[in-house]
Amino acid sequence: MENKESIKNLTPEDLREAVKSCGEPAFRAKQIERWLWRGLAGSFDEMTDLSKGLREKLGQTHNVDALTLDKEIKSSDGSRKFIFNLYDGAKIESVLIPADGLRTLCVSSQCGCALACGFCLTGRRGLIRNLTAGEILDQIILARRALRPDDALTNIVMMGMGEPLMNFDSVAQALKVITGESGMGMSYRRITVSTSGIIRKMGDFGRLGLAKLAVSLNSPDNEIRSQIMPVNKKNPLPDLMAACRRHPLRPRERITFEYVMLDGVNDAESDARALAALVADIPCKINLIPFNEFPGAKYRTPPGDRVDRFRRVLLNNNIDALVRQSRGADISAACGCLGGE
Ligand code: SF4
Repeated sequence: MENKESIKNLTPEDLREAVKSCGEPAFRAKQIERWLWRGLAGSFDEMTDLSKGLREKLGQTHNVDALTLDKEIKSSDGSRKFIFNLYDGAKIESVLIPADGLRTLCVSSQCGCALACGFCLTGRRGLIRNLTAGEILDQIILARRALRPDDALTNIVMMGMGEPLMNFDSVAQALKVITGESGMGMSYRRITVSTSGIIRKMGDFGRLGLAKLAVSLNSPDNEIRSQIMPVNKKNPLPDLMAACRRHPLRPRERITFEYVMLDGVNDAESDARALAALVADIPCKINLIPFNEFPGAKYRTPPGDRVDRFRRVLLNNNIDALVRQSRGADISAACGCLGGE
């Protein structure tokens, strides 16, 4: 792909300006948006209701796609991992997870990640760079192109590579397109952004109101959480829980707390009781994720009966909890396993 900026990086305002600078009326920008976000166009030539002159002028300065598909790997459980090339040669990954009649795409927000959570393969490599809005959005567009027309994506979770709130501006721009009427038009109820707990950005995210919040919690104990997730040292658990209590929720909306279960570290019944007490006053559900072991990992997967007991303690304390079965483990697409290739 020639190294020009993708038109998908432009905000609607920038797109209108770009159209006007080509001597065309601003409403042409709406047509382009329709081609990009609904028509899944991969070239200006496909935008047949634009004049040839406009298509050529835009093509001189911009690419349409921000990503190219490097390869797709299918898991025996039906998950599909997409590996995409960025224009500068780096790679990112997204995973499509079909389950219970839903087709959920797990999207990356950064190439690599700086936060080094102990259970996560992505975090081992450090941060390469933030993704642009176009690179975030193109994961969705290219996955939709790979699906059959009657298999629309139903849900998007920003839980792939990276910490979304450390790339807030691009994530916010992408969310506006995903949920916008002149964008993809998806309901915010179908979009979830997962954070490791970047407190200073959680207020901004809440005010956006464009996606549901998930928080990667992983321990009810401040010390243990700091050992598992270094980000907790600057974003301590009590402050994080206060930020969650301030987070604006719409009727029936709940925060999802993710809890990666690590053998002998955070999986005791006493942890479950402490966790139940910690979240008791927050409308929430808890996703228990038995750790996916990977070569060189310092943690182990807990036995299944301990996971079940942990869940039962939560349920007995009126906390909604389910065990999220890892999907795509055979293609390194399970939680915390992206970017390991
Ligand atoms: S779990 Fe998320 S925040 Fe933590 S290192 Fe991995 S990608 Fe980064």
